[in-house]
Amino acid sequence: MKYISTRGNSPALGLSAALAAGLAPDGGLYVPQSLPKLAPSDFDGCNDLPAIATRLLAPFFVDDALAAELPAICAQAFTFDAPLRALATPGDHVLELFHGPTAAFKDFGARFLAACMQRLPRETDKPLTIIVATSGDTGAAVGAAFAGLPGFKVAILYPDGRVSPRQAHQLGAFGGNVRALRVDGAFDDCQRMAKQALSDNALRAVAPLSSANSISLGRLLPQMSYYADSSLKHFRASGSPLNFVVPTGNLGNAVACVLARACGLPIGRIALATNANRVLPDFFAGADYTAQSSVATIANAMDVGAPSNFERLAWLYQDAATLRREFVSMSVDDAAIRATIRERHKRYGEIFCPHTATAIHLLERLRAQGTEGDWSVVATAHPAKFDSIVEPLIGATVSVPPSLAALLARPAHADPLANEYAALRAVLVGN
Ligand SMILES: *Cc1c(COP(=O)(O)O)cnc(C)c1O
Repeated sequence: MKYISTRGNSPALGLSAALAAGLAPDGGLYVPQSLPKLAPSDFDGCNDLPAIATRLLAPFFVDDALAAELPAICAQAFTFDAPLRALATPGDHVLELFHGPTAAFKDFGARFLAACMQRLPRETDKPLTIIVATSGDTGAAVGAAFAGLPGFKVAILYPDGRVSPRQAHQLGAFGGNVRALRVDGAFDDCQRMAKQALSDNALRAVAPLSSANSISLGRLLPQMSYYADSSLKHFRASGSPLNFVVPTGNLGNAVACVLARACGLPIGRIALATNANRVLPDFFAGADYTAQSSVATIANAMDVGAPSNFERLAWLYQDAATLRREFVSMSVDDAAIRATIRERHKRYGEIFCPHTATAIHLLERLRAQGTEGDWSVVATAHPAKFDSIVEPLIGATVSVPPSLAALLARPAHADPLANEYAALRAVLVGN
């Protein structure tokens, strides 16, 4: 399998090279040159997430040095389940993606990426620093995935005061080869500084750097696995496809769902829920795609004004009109998120994180419009990660899952970082 750039002006690369490169030289994102066509029966005998992932991803690893390692990579990365549970409302389900070490879906991609990178050949024996800008969950997942891994360091940049208290604690709790930097600025500032470091060749000569952001193929490809696993389970039990509502920021999770469907998995419609950052719903309603600056919401991991995977979505469809026909999308503001969390708990005893609540709200809207079929909301984080928002709304304590409790029980430390590139550069040189 070769990987080409969405912009069409870069040489095609094998998987390992595309993983190592991150962004294509023409500024585009790597996409597979062709998509395998699989039928549900191709997964006969595959009954758990690692087995289904290995079968699904094998065509994407063909002819690459990592191909022989794929079963081991999947076994190492997917050590926790992605259960599909029925909700109280008939035909509605939730795909819980928060049973990993940091209680958010980013664990799937980060652990798979780490398992791949660990097996890639390296040019020097200097440690490789993974630099990651985060609005909260990515940094923790990447920190957890690389913590204690020989030959790697992690530098996490996050906006000071703009992540939930528990997210902040998690980011600082790894220690060892994982360094947390709390930046005096917004997420966009963190991202800008990280990008500048990655394009600073003089710096990279003394301090080898790599990224782990949401455009990485090493995160995108594994995220298809839980859509394959859940849609196959549902198909085997019911004979019908499963429709999904995906809470969306950078479109990484949603594009994985779209790719899984394009490979032949029994997935029906895909709806995209955003918070008050409404560039996608506006596009799907007919407006031109224009990046906006992000606005802060209580679903902070989706505070994105320029979804980085939009280019991949656009690449998959012939033109904007076809793309618009394919998706339902809706912006859900903070007031509606709060009302959804409160009401679902009051009426059904169900508890959702603010991100997941955007998708619940969109599904409720679809049902009110008469939409039929079996649908699953994608639960992207455990509500206990956002206790300061959720608990006052439901008037109850959210119990903390064991992996999150273990991290929260550790001491946490983050170094302050000025909002200027020179400060980051100095840290990375001395790291
Ligand atoms: C990252 C994240 C999202 C958004 O995922 P994208 O792949 O950026 O669309 C949604 N919810 C939570 C909890 C997240 O951490």
